[in-house]
Amino acid sequence: MLPQPPPADAASLWQATSLARPSFGRLSGERSFDVIVIGGGYTGLSTAHYLARAGLAPVVLEANRIGWGASGRNGGVVSGKFRVGFKDIAARHGLDVAQRMHGLGVEAIEHVGELIDELGLEGADYRPTGSLRCAHNARSFAMLRSEAAWLRDVLGDTAVSIRDAGEVAAETGSGGFVGGMLNTHGGVIHPLNFLLGVAGALERRGIAVHENTAVARVRREGDGVVAEIPDGQVRARQVVLATNSYSDLTPATAALRTSIIPFRSAMIATEPLAGTPGAGLLASGRSYTETRRMMRWFRKSGDRLLYGGRGAFGRTDSDSAFAALEKAMVQQFPELAGVEVTHRWSGLVAMTLDSVPHLGRLDDRVVYSVGYNGTGVALASAIGRHVAALVTGAKPDLGLPTRLPLHPIPLYGLRAPAVRLVAGWYQFLDAIGR
Ligand SMILES: Cc1cc2nc3c(=O)[nH]c(=O)nc-3n(C[C@H](O)[C@H](O)[C@H](O)COP(=O)(O)OP(=O)(O)OC[C@H]3O[C@@H](n4cnc5c(N)ncnc54)[C@H](O)[C@@H]3O)c2cc1C
Repeated sequence: MLPQPPPADAASLWQATSLARPSFGRLSGERSFDVIVIGGGYTGLSTAHYLARAGLAPVVLEANRIGWGASGRNGGVVSGKFRVGFKDIAARHGLDVAQRMHGLGVEAIEHVGELIDELGLEGADYRPTGSLRCAHNARSFAMLRSEAAWLRDVLGDTAVSIRDAGEVAAETGSGGFVGGMLNTHGGVIHPLNFLLGVAGALERRGIAVHENTAVARVRREGDGVVAEIPDGQVRARQVVLATNSYSDLTPATAALRTSIIPFRSAMIATEPLAGTPGAGLLASGRSYTETRRMMRWFRKSGDRLLYGGRGAFGRTDSDSAFAALEKAMVQQFPELAGVEVTHRWSGLVAMTLDSVPHLGRLDDRVVYSVGYNGTGVALASAIGRHVAALVTGAKPDLGLPTRLPLHPIPLYGLRAPAVRLVAGWYQFLDAIGR
């Protein structure tokens, strides 16, 4: 199966506001490198960056244009969290695992700023404003308070603190929350400019980055691998699979496909709010998430408000998901009634059975890093350091991502109705306040 055509680029605010896009040529012919990296998102580029630092010659092969995947169309929230909380990780897997993963999250956030400085990335617009998690009911607020106390007391995380209902209302402009947990670590970024900046900088450093070059298949040959591309073949000692939620585009990454549930996440952006009743909303410029299971989240970019949420499973954009987001946004911020929504877009996040990302080896030639469960801006951009270590023979210990295997999803063929069922159940629990 050939890669699907990219969706209309103009739909995303990031495409509409990106810096001039460098063109990364297509690869053809018979070529040889040390390592083939399949996928030109944060994971693939970060991996190539650190492989080159280790003295190897990688090639990044991207099926579409750089930024077509989730890395070019996400919410730009820079966070070090995982979908499963550190307290739960400690309870189930031990404190040392929670400490290691918390450290990885901190490392990933700090790495964003370091990479911007190191590569001189203009236009990434990184603002380390932190994030506020807003509780939609008393039960969720109690859980946030307990989590914040545990993070401070057990992990020594001084970035988290609790905000009462009045403080959350003052920050968000929305009266619908009973309190929240502020985390001053992390912030917001222009995700596509960040990605294009990294790709351009790597190319200027002599690292091969090629777009519109789908790897159709990978086969072993002697003590290496051969990747089939539309107009040729690429040989290397090893291959890295960095295709995350888009691991079903071709058979080259078929081994990962059944371990990932692609879950559609949709976003909308308003017109600039200056001069409208919503002009003062979200003045601190943080990112904001809710505690509902079917989480909504919001942030500003320049003078626009962005509002996102996870919707129903589907291969394409859905008008009804966008309409539901607009309705939820106006319910939450009545000042936005009548404000024009100028951009609507969506993409796939990669959920895993155990809610954590995984990096490891499929065999002695094939390494993978996938399954960010919707929080990969910081982590996927930093993970290349550890993927490169794996490629060069080290055994990094990142806690669950390296200690647990990537499990196949049981009854994978039933994932679409199963996700719809779970989404419907979560919506019901949210609606009754559980
Ligand atoms: C709408 C949305 C909002 C999100 N918001 C946030 C957020 O605010 N904060 C956060 O931390 N995370 C967020 N995420 C998640 C985050 O974007 C991802 O975790 C991250 O971008 C994953 O990066 P990646 O490089 O692993 O994958 P991707 O960026 O998806 O890159 C994979 C690439 O592989 C390519 N590919 C696939 N098959 C082949 C092949 N055979 N040959 C060559 N190339 C191939 C694809 O074309 C694709 O470009 C969001 C995701 C979505 C979809």
